[in-house]
Amino acid sequence: MNEAQGVATLNAGAMAPPRRHHWVAANSFRVRTATFALIGIPIALHVLPRQHGAVFWTLFLLQFYAYPFIMQWLSRRAANHEKAEHNNLIVDSVASGAWAAALGFPLWISVAFFLAALLNHTIALGVRGILICLLAASAGALASTTVIAFHVSTDTDGLVTLTSIIGLAVYLSLMGIEFFSYIRRLHEVQDAVDLQKRTLEDANQALHDQIAKINDLQEKLREQANRDSLTGLFNRRYLEGTLERELSRCKREGAPLTMLLLDIDYFKLVNDTYGHPAGDEVLRVFARALQESARTEDIVCRYGGEEFLLVLPKMSLAVARGRALQLLELFRKTTVVFENSRIPVTTSIGIASVPDHATGVENLIRCADQALYRAKSTGRDRAVAFNEF
Ligand code: GH3
Ligand code: MG
Ligand code: MG
Repeated sequence: MNEAQGVATLNAGAMAPPRRHHWVAANSFRVRTATFALIGIPIALHVLPRQHGAVFWTLFLLQFYAYPFIMQWLSRRAANHEKAEHNNLIVDSVASGAWAAALGFPLWISVAFFLAALLNHTIALGVRGILICLLAASAGALASTTVIAFHVSTDTDGLVTLTSIIGLAVYLSLMGIEFFSYIRRLHEVQDAVDLQKRTLEDANQALHDQIAKINDLQEKLREQANRDSLTGLFNRRYLEGTLERELSRCKREGAPLTMLLLDIDYFKLVNDTYGHPAGDEVLRVFARALQESARTEDIVCRYGGEEFLLVLPKMSLAVARGRALQLLELFRKTTVVFENSRIPVTTSIGIASVPDHATGVENLIRCADQALYRAKSTGRDRAVAFNEF
């Protein structure tokens, strides 16, 4: 075998099951062997009294008891089993016509032989099979009457009639059994396919559920990545992506955007006096108060350790200043209770605004930072806008 053949064989092997005798050929072999063996009996009984010679009997044995095996061998050798078997069926029909004509159309023998050929042909080829069988049987009968003179002698004696009928009945029963086993196998295959389909559907559903879970998890992870774990506020990372967008939107709409940068006063002292957990609690309370005072469009973010940033889209500097004063008042009133301690908190706020102080994000934050520095250096617990110094 050369390489190309090897590849072709491998490919065919990967796509199709190993080549077997085609079902039409395998089925026909069983049916043909049974048909000819059964029809052979009444024919032998019919011609026995007529004392034919050795040539006839040789022909008879060849036709009825060797022929099915020869046809099976031929179809197995053929490149296309199915096509070869269709040709064999034509030969069967020709034989039925030829034998019927040769014997003078004995009624029961002819009917049994022709019906068997007709049914075999129909099973393999459908309606086309009926036509082909009729044509082939007629051709066989014509050929036979050309060689042997045309004669008609339809009568058969009782035994021949009986064996013909029994032969036909046995043939039909065999066909019935054949179909029964086919249909049962078909149902088994159907059941197996249904089971596989259900298994696949279940697997598909499980996969969908898993994907939904993964999507939920991804969503949670995205959310977590944007949130500060201590306070639950947005973190700096979130702000970086959002602030630019918010500013562009405000600019597009011709609206201002103001920023408050808040830093808790003497927070280090809170940690040193009450402990780090107390400091954490102050941060949480501070964050909650800030969040609760915010509008839906505001962005509240933990910017650093004890620094918070409040972005106020579409809020003017003047309004923001009022807001900052309210916050200062709010924090002054807020006393954080931790264990047995009551911790007072004040904050300093730096205010900067677009378009008053800056045009871009970076400058705006720098201005707010400088304003905050100013608030710290001038005494803390106060709000200072960038243009106020
Ligand atoms: P100032 O009034 O000038 O702002 O003084 P301050 O003490 O608040 O400022 P400083 O920057 O010196 O101290 C900030 C402290 O905040 C230092 C750091 O240990 C603390 N800190 C930062 N993050 C956390 C945190 O998550 N929890 C706690 N408990 N403390 C934190
Ligand atoms: Mg600080
Ligand atoms: Mg501070």
